[in-house]
Amino acid sequence: MTGHEVSDAVDASIDEQPAAWALHRAVTTAALAEIDQRQAHHPTCALCGQRALKLDKLGLCSKVSEPHKKWRAETRAELATGRRR
Ligand SMILES: [Zn+2]
Repeated sequence: MTGHEVSDAVDASIDEQPAAWALHRAVTTAALAEIDQRQAHHPTCALCGQRALKLDKLGLCSKVSEPHKKWRAETRAELATGRRR
């Protein structure tokens, strides 16, 4: 394949992409909007703001990242000593 043929092939694939991307984006946006609407009444995590079907006793979502673990540990310690922030 010559350099010219390669650049023609690249041009052709770029030409086809905008429509595909626009369609993909429209579908994704619609799906996200629908999910957002359905979850609008769900509670949000006190730490990260993530919507969850159910929060744990400490008001957090089910994530187990370090900040979530730290929050749980600190909140449990505060509850144990009877003081709240
Ligand atoms: Zn969270």
